[in-house]
Amino acid sequence: MSGSANQAVGRAGARFTPETVLCAILAVGAVAVAFVNGHYLTLFTFAAVYLIGAMGLNVLTGYMGIISIAHGALVCVGAYATAIATVNYGWNFWPAAGLSTLVGLGFSVLLGLPALRLSSWYFVLITIAFTLVVPAMLVEWRDFTGGYAGVIGIPSPSIGPLQGQTGFFVILVAVAALLWWIIANLVNSRIGWALHALRDGNIGAQANGISSARMRLFAFAFSGACAGLAGAFYAAAKIVVTPEEFSFEFSILFLFIVVLGGPGRLAGPLFGVLAFYVLPELLTALREYRMIVFGFGLLAFSVFLPAGLAGGVDQVGRRRSRKAMVGAPTGRLKHEAEPVEGASLTIANLRKQFGGLKALDDVTLNVEPGSIHVIVGPNGSGKTTLLNVVSGFYPANGGTIKLDGAELLGMAPEQIAKLGVQRTFQTPKLLGDLSVLENTCFGAYTREKASGFEIALSLLRAVREKREITREAHQLLSLVGLDGMAHLPAAELTHGQQRLAEIARALMARPRLILLDEPAAGLSMGELDRLGDLLKEIRRLGMTLVMVEHHIELVANVADHVTVLDQGRILAAGTSEEVFNDEAVINAYMGGAK
Ligand code: ADP
Ligand code: MG
Repeated sequence: MSGSANQAVGRAGARFTPETVLCAILAVGAVAVAFVNGHYLTLFTFAAVYLIGAMGLNVLTGYMGIISIAHGALVCVGAYATAIATVNYGWNFWPAAGLSTLVGLGFSVLLGLPALRLSSWYFVLITIAFTLVVPAMLVEWRDFTGGYAGVIGIPSPSIGPLQGQTGFFVILVAVAALLWWIIANLVNSRIGWALHALRDGNIGAQANGISSARMRLFAFAFSGACAGLAGAFYAAAKIVVTPEEFSFEFSILFLFIVVLGGPGRLAGPLFGVLAFYVLPELLTALREYRMIVFGFGLLAFSVFLPAGLAGGVDQVGRRRSRKAMVGAPTGRLKHEAEPVEGASLTIANLRKQFGGLKALDDVTLNVEPGSIHVIVGPNGSGKTTLLNVVSGFYPANGGTIKLDGAELLGMAPEQIAKLGVQRTFQTPKLLGDLSVLENTCFGAYTREKASGFEIALSLLRAVREKREITREAHQLLSLVGLDGMAHLPAAELTHGQQRLAEIARALMARPRLILLDEPAAGLSMGELDRLGDLLKEIRRLGMTLVMVEHHIELVANVADHVTVLDQGRILAAGTSEEVFNDEAVINAYMGGAK
């Protein structure tokens, strides 16, 4: 096992994890059983429909972390759209399914709109209300929906030789497989990483240029479209749709499938459907008590299997390979990145107060393009606050901050990131369960050109761009000395190494201004030397660098200009030699000790 460090790891990035392999075996088994026995064919037809719906919900609830009760209600709306279009208006199944997809998408976005700004708890309430209203509407709106009697005689889809019940099942399996592939493409891209970062409340996401509203909108649209499409197939499989079958239980079943199957894992919905739909259907006795079983399942899972069935399988499969996961840094500098035009940063009379505390008090400083400007000062002197205000995380109480003459104050962090400002954090904010390589690639978020559509279908531009970005990320990782750890989950790095990985991630964006908060903290002696070289390399490439740092030797080695902060005010400024020999500075540092 020992030589296989690189292939054994890579968690979310690798496609062939233990869970996906087991999953493929189960899926092939299910399809085979369905073909052999007609009874099972019906069962697995519905299982495939549920799977399509659940995969969509997994994007919203699993990857994005927004809980929806209304998924089944969206399936219901999709089912009725197809039923009415085909039976009442004589449409062919496929255009009707397209309509259902759009209807599902539309309703999902409408339900989600308030959640773009409000907390997602409101969304849960809205989705509960929607789930209760839909069946009532179907009964009331009799002329259109057939009331209690429903709509009868929905045709099944067919394509060429794929006819009848078997043909339908083959179509469903193909659609589910296609959807799986699309989601896999999305999940292993900046879109999936952005969902993940937002779900985890990672503030690094904003520093990376991600708009939370846009990502939420995407998740609502995608999951709604899947629900609508699943609804079309559901109607065809049922032949008859009535309001009664779309109970609260139907809606919540999707949530159980996703949460218990393994939220935010590709294989989760398949495990969920097999365990919580197929199994109870097979064991008829269990079917009656399904909700009770789910309730206890939820309790047991939250204690023993928080990552659901898929997560459990994954853990067992990985246990043995964990030891092989420690790599060694290569420490080679082979960076050949293009030069960047550094921006100037002009801060004037900047003030920031926390209640009565003046964290920044009339700070004025000027950072030359392409220079290394170091901020030093005792603990609590306002250094981190300064970076937080410049990068848009804190609003200021007064003053101006200009990047090449453009005012930054009042802009959101993601807007500032898009202007070419990148930062790292005093406490690293990497996505711990993604690999170091993925975290680094994620840094290219603001400059990636391939659209979500191109990424989802793995079109040429998306594939090329991903390859190019991965290549650059490897280069940057070797520049910071972490290439040997590219495939480790970021959480397994020391804090010092995580800081270096954050620098690599920030550099991926090709920023014009880069803000580093105490990059040397927690580094070993060797790493410290490399950091010095790295900072000079960043300057050589033309970027402007503002760095908060305590390490005097490092500062003396790299700084073009040093500004000393004390209690939010500028105490001294000049070259490192000037400021470190300054009486006031020496007193401020020694003040506490005397
Ligand atoms: P430094 O990075 O120089 O050690 P900080 O900028 O983190 O200092 O903090 C400067 C002062 O502002 C400290 O007194 C700190 O307690 C206060 N401060 C920083 N962030 C906040 C906050 N979010 N809320 C309230 N006070 C804060
Ligand atoms: Mg600080």
